[in-house]
Amino acid sequence: MNRDLMLRTLQTTKEWDILVVGGGATGLGIAVDAASRGLSTALVEQSDFAKATSSRSTKLVHGGVRYLKQGNVSLVIEALKERGLLCQNAPHLVSHLPFLVPSYHWWEGPFYGVGLKVYDMLAGKLGIEKSRHLSRDEVLQQLPTIEPKDLRGGTIYYDGQFDDARLAITLAQTAAHHGGCLMNYCSVIRLIKEGPLVKGVIARDEETQQELELHAKVVINATGIFSDGLRKMDGQTDSAIIEPSQGIHLVLDRSFLASDTAIMIPHTDDGRVLFFVPWHRHVLVGTTDTPVEKAVLEPKPMEQEIEFLLTHAKRYLTKHPARSDILSVFAGLRPLVRAGHDAKTAALSRDHVILVSDSGLITIAGGKWTTYRKMAEDAVNKAILVGHLKETPCITENLPLHDPGPIGAGEAALHPRLAITAAHIAVAVHSEMARTLEDVLARRTRALFLEAKASIEVAPIVAQLLAQERKQTTDWAKAEITKFLNIAKNYCA
Ligand SMILES: Cc1cc2nc3c(=O)[nH]c(=O)nc-3n(C[C@H](O)[C@H](O)[C@H](O)COP(=O)(O)OP(=O)(O)OC[C@H]3O[C@@H](n4cnc5c(N)ncnc54)[C@H](O)[C@@H]3O)c2cc1C
Repeated sequence: MNRDLMLRTLQTTKEWDILVVGGGATGLGIAVDAASRGLSTALVEQSDFAKATSSRSTKLVHGGVRYLKQGNVSLVIEALKERGLLCQNAPHLVSHLPFLVPSYHWWEGPFYGVGLKVYDMLAGKLGIEKSRHLSRDEVLQQLPTIEPKDLRGGTIYYDGQFDDARLAITLAQTAAHHGGCLMNYCSVIRLIKEGPLVKGVIARDEETQQELELHAKVVINATGIFSDGLRKMDGQTDSAIIEPSQGIHLVLDRSFLASDTAIMIPHTDDGRVLFFVPWHRHVLVGTTDTPVEKAVLEPKPMEQEIEFLLTHAKRYLTKHPARSDILSVFAGLRPLVRAGHDAKTAALSRDHVILVSDSGLITIAGGKWTTYRKMAEDAVNKAILVGHLKETPCITENLPLHDPGPIGAGEAALHPRLAITAAHIAVAVHSEMARTLEDVLARRTRALFLEAKASIEVAPIVAQLLAQERKQTTDWAKAEITKFLNIAKNYCA
């Protein structure tokens, strides 16, 4: 993918069938779906692809054991199907991960054992391995650092795991491969209306401040936590549809878990689900659920959230993490749809909603990473109806996603604690549309999310290589370092 070429295509195309606003899981999924159906498709993202919620998840491709507990069976079936399809279409990005649900009370073993058998069953032929009971000794063998006091045994079940920001780039590349035009750092600032109908957008190239007039038969608002912003541009000033909720993760050294098996605690003190997940040779601990007032691109972890996770980590692990053990901490905002909205609208799934305003603007919100493909299918089906587009069937159930192969294998890493090489930077710039130092360190590689301090240490050399690849000056590289440090401090606990 090349941003200059994308920009030229945007400037010279008279009218798109579908213009997607937002380059997170939802928007990128829509771009893949629409482009692979043969519809002319453009996507604009105000920042980098997956900059907002879509790089800040727990990295699970899952049916959601939690939803099963709530009795939301249809949602679990849909998500388990999507889990299976993603494993099939992107085997290079999704792996199978065993999860242990420990039992500390006599009733937990049978209770979760039966529930997880139902979970297996609902996955049908797209299931992973079957869940099974483990004795106390077997649990301790598999998870040597789990708290042994009062431990009775546990149940192992399987789900998928992925790298969210990498999948986002893969979706962008897949959409581009099918003829889609995707632009990062390009914000929609106004809608173009003809009479009462939306006929396109005015977008601003954030690198040059140039305004672009983009015409489209259908505009889809896939802006996640920012959905109400675009709805306001459309004159929808009634009530907000999004209630953002913050979730944070702590990243610790793998020795705290010392296992390739994740731990899932179904019920913390305040009724949340807690995960300890091995990820890129580290362990993720999360998450929290804190309502917040405002949608922001760079949410900050709160003190009480960090304390909550540290306290619970100490409860379930024998190696107790201290504040100084946190290698990185990141926050994300869930784009939760306010209760009551799906009842009024053409909700095609119980997890996400699709609203069509009187102007024809389509807004899709809610859902989760796991179900991005189904959300996209529903949104494009709706767009075909709204825009009277050529009726073409969705092909993404069996569409393989882009696979670039291994990058930088055998090359020396630029930092002893980070798997980043010069090749990663070159590929990020020339094939993945990385523009800034933060793009490279936060999303093309996951350095900032894994090791905040190490990513700060490596920033000068990466900035220099990035400047070379982008043919930029030393002053540009210095400014990039300053901007990156300003963001990276939020990831240091
Ligand atoms: C803590 C946490 C853990 C989670 N864990 C999981 C998990 O393990 N598994 C799972 O399946 N799901 C998980 N999720 C849910 C999942 O991450 C989200 O549902 C998904 O990422 C939302 O994607 P999105 O594209 O709708 O939103 P976003 O990723 O936020 O994308 C919206 C994009 O729109 C852009 N935008 C906004 N306004 C404009 C504009 N005017 N012009 C151009 N662009 C604009 C934004 O910059 C943003 O990039 C988790 C979520 C959170 C918060």
